[in-house]
Amino acid sequence: MSEPLLSEPLLPEPLLPEPLLPEPLTGVLSGVLSGDERALARAATLVENGGGAAESLLRALMPHMGRALILGVTGPPGAGKSTLCDAMIQHLRQEGKSVAVIAVDPSSPFSGGAILGDRIRMQRHSGDTGVFIRSMATRGAHGGVARATADLAKLFDAAGRDVVIIETVGVGQSEVEIARLAQVTILVLVPGAGDDVQAMKSGVLEAADVFAINKADQPGAEKLDRELQAQMHLAGRERSIVKTVASEGKGVPELLRAARECRHEVRGVSVDRGARVDHLGIAVRSIAEALKFYEGQLGLRVTLRETVDAEKVHAAMLPVGNSRIELLEASTPDSVIAKFIAKRGEGLHHVAIAVPDLDAAVERLKSAGARLLNEPRIGAGGHVYVFIHPASTGGVLLELIQS
Ligand code: ZN
Repeated sequence: MSEPLLSEPLLPEPLLPEPLLPEPLTGVLSGVLSGDERALARAATLVENGGGAAESLLRALMPHMGRALILGVTGPPGAGKSTLCDAMIQHLRQEGKSVAVIAVDPSSPFSGGAILGDRIRMQRHSGDTGVFIRSMATRGAHGGVARATADLAKLFDAAGRDVVIIETVGVGQSEVEIARLAQVTILVLVPGAGDDVQAMKSGVLEAADVFAINKADQPGAEKLDRELQAQMHLAGRERSIVKTVASEGKGVPELLRAARECRHEVRGVSVDRGARVDHLGIAVRSIAEALKFYEGQLGLRVTLRETVDAEKVHAAMLPVGNSRIELLEASTPDSVIAKFIAKRGEGLHHVAIAVPDLDAAVERLKSAGARLLNEPRIGAGGHVYVFIHPASTGGVLLELIQS
């Protein structure tokens, strides 16, 4: 027999578990996850500054990302974006949703504008822990603002905010780019006021997923509506156009509905930002026996063990990067895992994908004719999940989880 080809350990370095966070960061991390506002403010500063600590923190938060609706709000000055954002916040709070706002002013060397808007809103929502506002002014670092905005949105998403609003001050090129970091970009326009649709840079119109015609009680709203429709028709695009009077809250529920529908339809479920492989379920006869390999030889570590009575399984979770391996052992002889092993032997039992909006995914799959094995229910780790029959997936049992 010749020498084995690999004398080095088989496990490449990146597959080893991530090192634990440095001590001061674990406090911030747990604070962020438990909804502590001061921890969130500290984390936001860290993330804005970037660097290694920010990266470690965001990596540790990654499993908690992908749930928030991230809205970009952009439009020319005077369109009433701040008032509209305010009205949206108010409506969302009435719905019981928590909100984070990132007010961005990348074009101005001064932070005055963003901070001013911030203060007004701060007062209005002060004492409401359901609204977290952060303003971002340029610090002369080009591209840095976009990076920091994207990272802040991820942070607020992971912190459990239901909706993250990225509001830009104007509608310049860099501002449009920042608004496009969102899942759904709302372009706010007003009748008259010189922002003739034809004159608008095409990039600005293209960035919009939803149009809000604000101050729609003013003359020219219908004309603007027709112009936008004509433009969209020419470009072969379908976009919702919603008329609002932000100062009175009019049209705000409709605008939010359009944004939510747009997120489902345009982005889809499978391509939705935040969908990721959550874990691979492996059926084993004995978890203890399997761990001799997974822990003892491969070097992974069990972070969670539990018994899921509904599925009659013992489960052990071993993180691998941002995913996990889930070892499954039958807890009773009539468990599906026992049956699976009897029929096919030990091996890959299912692949689990976490999606930001499970209800939307289920709706979509049902209407597309996929074979679902159950209605969404609560399983391991308190996650809501559904199983999709291997007949629909190319032979692998697929589990979809609400991330
Ligand atoms: Zn699973």
